[in-house]
Amino acid sequence: MNEADTNGTAHTTRAGRDIVALGIAIAAVLMFVGTGSSVLPQIIREWTGSGPGPDSMLSNALLLNIALIIFGWRRYKELLSELEHRRLAEEKARLLAETDMLTNCLNRRSITSATDALIARTSQEGKLAAFIVLDLDNFKQVNDFNGHQVGDEVLRETSQRISALMPKDGLLARLGGDEFACVVPYLPKFADKVDLLVSRLIDATSKPISAGGQQIDITISVGIAASDINTDSEQPADNAQTLMHHADIAMYHAKKQGKNRHFWFEKSMESELRFRSELEAGIRRGLVRDEFVPYYEQQIDLDSGKLVGFEMLARWQSPELGLVKPDIFIPVAEDMGVIGTLSEALISQALQDAVTWDPSITLSVNISPMQLRDPWFAQKLLKLLVKHNFPPKRLEIEITESCLHDNVGLVRSMVTSLRNQGVQISLDDFGTGYSSLSHLKSLPFDRLKIDRSFVSALARDTNQSASQIISAIIAMGDGLSLPITAEGIEDETVLNALRKLGPLKGQGYHYGQPETADDVRQRLMAAGRLVGATKAPQQSVDMVPVSNEEAGGSEPPPTSKPRQQAG
Ligand code: C2E
Ligand code: MG
Ligand code: MG
Repeated sequence: MNEADTNGTAHTTRAGRDIVALGIAIAAVLMFVGTGSSVLPQIIREWTGSGPGPDSMLSNALLLNIALIIFGWRRYKELLSELEHRRLAEEKARLLAETDMLTNCLNRRSITSATDALIARTSQEGKLAAFIVLDLDNFKQVNDFNGHQVGDEVLRETSQRISALMPKDGLLARLGGDEFACVVPYLPKFADKVDLLVSRLIDATSKPISAGGQQIDITISVGIAASDINTDSEQPADNAQTLMHHADIAMYHAKKQGKNRHFWFEKSMESELRFRSELEAGIRRGLVRDEFVPYYEQQIDLDSGKLVGFEMLARWQSPELGLVKPDIFIPVAEDMGVIGTLSEALISQALQDAVTWDPSITLSVNISPMQLRDPWFAQKLLKLLVKHNFPPKRLEIEITESCLHDNVGLVRSMVTSLRNQGVQISLDDFGTGYSSLSHLKSLPFDRLKIDRSFVSALARDTNQSASQIISAIIAMGDGLSLPITAEGIEDETVLNALRKLGPLKGQGYHYGQPETADDVRQRLMAAGRLVGATKAPQQSVDMVPVSNEEAGGSEPPPTSKPRQQAG
């Protein structure tokens, strides 16, 4: 018999007992009235000496009645206290079911009914409800780096900070994980008060949290949905479920816009989300069908005008969307956690292409910050170099400053191990991030790439400010022995201006758009700088660091075609 059955039987038995006890007590009272009315006058008569005492049978019956009444009364009191216990236990069970145990606020289940009740109540006062979803940014990293206990403390402190700012008639719930929800009623003409509250919530939660003996910095992304939005749609937003869904979409939008900010839900966000999930599905399909291909942009020595290398730029040949640029799919692939797989496939393809180019031509590849969180990244890259017999010194990896915020220690050790094998490291888009000297010192860079925003500004540089900035970067590069590449050279004017500033490598549309592997082959063939199709020897390599020789420190293998030297 299970616990519920046992409880049920116990309740039935107790209820039966209660009815019997009640029957006995009622009968006792009736008998007391009956026997008492004849015994008591006899007792009084005996006391006053005017008659005989009561019959002993009747006296015993009276005493029995009194005992039964006391028994009935006690049972009645027990019953009352049992009922109170039961009520308290039920109340406790209800509270447990409705409360989030970690933070003591409402949970996902209870916030919906509480919100529906709040909407019904406040709409009579002409008020709307704002459903606010708050999601901690990068909370997974807090958990991963500091452990779940610290993560729990961060969640508790965050909920207390939110709770401290909530209006009296508002609701606060933890929806699960690192997601909270607040519901606040407001008069439509005072919608800006909701914005004000949300700004305060963002400020309060972004103050450092002391947890586990450390300072944790956290930010939140917020989405807000109002109960009157799109009342004309098939799905009116006057119920908690729809409001929560809309606020979630707006919060997601806030994340996409750079996190640590808030947005009100708008209808257009729904189609954005639909596009996003189609994009994700397309990327998954594309990975299986090899739809991601490398394109190449020429890199030129500006003084001699000679082609010295190519930067590989990813393109997605999507059957549905056409040729898609990396700005669209790389961030999505990063969020989906497939950037490593995607990038390795592209780099592998690029190495296979580049091994047929003249050995004086270098290959640059862009590396996502997410890839540098993978402790096996360096090994994976070196393994690819071995597979394609590609000399590490011809490979340059481009990383941006955002790579340096995460875990500089890990990034440094991986970059150092790659550099020890001969791979060159360059800092991409210099000037757009913090561009701090400490970043330049934190990793052993081999090259700086000035962001194209500075370079293209040379075209309309009436007050010489762009050329002064570039001169300053070149001077700094000189001081740190870092050669410089200028990105985004679009015309002759910019090229001539750059030439005057110093010895630079450059790239940009002036030299043509990024082109396919076939186009590059044609170009190099025409210039007599193609080694020829080389079949890369397949080697089996374990996931261990490889030595310099193993990593392909030699020239590409001889080919059937006579080698043509660079022109
Ligand atoms: P990036 O590494 O700074 O690459 C330069 C971008 O500027 C390329 O855009 C290139 O087509 C564009 N560009 C080059 N010259 C000019 C010019 O003269 N004018 C203008 N307006 N633009 C020029 P693209 O190919 O769209 O790539 C954008 C960014 O996507 C890249 O910026 C890089 O950060 C990223 N990316 C590209 N391929 C990969 C990849 O395989 N992996 C990763 N993680 N990121 C990649
Ligand atoms: Mg780049
Ligand atoms: Mg760049």
